[in-house]
Amino acid sequence: MHINFSQFNSLIALVDYFNTEDKCKAAIAQQRWGEDNAVCPYCGSTHCHQCKDGRYICKGCQCKFSVTVGTIFENTKLSLRKWFMAMYLVSSTKKGVSSHQLARDLAITQKTAWFILHKIRGLYGITDETVLAGEVEMDEMYLGGRETNKHESKKVEGTQGRSTKTKTPIFGMLERDGKVVAMKVDNTQGKTLMPIVSQFVEEGSTTYTDEASIYNNLTKNGYEHLFVNHGKREYVRSSDIHTNGIEGFWAHFKRVVFSTYHMVSKDYLQRYIDEQLYRWNTREESASYRFHDMFNKAVKRFDYNDVLSLSTVVDTDLRTLKLKLYYLWYMHNKVA
Ligand SMILES: [Zn+2]
Repeated sequence: MHINFSQFNSLIALVDYFNTEDKCKAAIAQQRWGEDNAVCPYCGSTHCHQCKDGRYICKGCQCKFSVTVGTIFENTKLSLRKWFMAMYLVSSTKKGVSSHQLARDLAITQKTAWFILHKIRGLYGITDETVLAGEVEMDEMYLGGRETNKHESKKVEGTQGRSTKTKTPIFGMLERDGKVVAMKVDNTQGKTLMPIVSQFVEEGSTTYTDEASIYNNLTKNGYEHLFVNHGKREYVRSSDIHTNGIEGFWAHFKRVVFSTYHMVSKDYLQRYIDEQLYRWNTREESASYRFHDMFNKAVKRFDYNDVLSLSTVVDTDLRTLKLKLYYLWYMHNKVA
């Protein structure tokens, strides 16, 4: 039985279809293994068969495993139906869902809602393969501190006024008519930001920034660099030279963070950024596409290629880390 995800274009369509836990498990199995046999997560063998209790047993290593092992649903006490609904609500709403709202919608405790929201947010994240090209706007934004001082601080040359003691800096890059990449950074010095630009923006692209000296090295690094001089009131020197796109994203981000989440802890800030980036970057997609995409991320297990890119991935998600370490340990023992 093949499940077509494009049918889930409304919450009721999803809820009607996934009316039992078994159907949820079948969807996870399909997403993980397609029409093929289950694959043992411990030894990679495809000689597995399903037991009466729905779990699988591997003929290779005799291990027993469930369809959710290695997914975000592993060892969960919450029903899969509620997980699927939560994922649908998070992926389909424009602004996101607060833990209080989700707790009411799913009749769960706020603590549980908070926990699964963070698990779901951990699925987002910029992939290393993201490349911005063409015309790219860049800007920094500071969260926290005194908002009233912000515009003033942008006028000040250098790093003065960009104190990160009370404010958390976020650096963003927006490809015009394309995607946005943004991340929490320790500081907004040129030497911190340049490697990020080099990683995500194709050489030869035209970059648009404000006049801050932190962007002085863009030309040296192979980019065309045009900037707006806020201090001299040259807000728009030519109709193309502006950073309105990325500033629009910041405005959207702040609206969401303050209206839906009220406040965001510094430790989890990147997850909120990732969630909003995902919304922004998939704004043209349908609700069913976004749910399917999220579902795919939720059931995806790491593989050997993920281990190879371990050093380049900024990944603090404990589940993924745990699995990668386990995989390394496993590979080591297998070879030895
Ligand atoms: Zn096995």
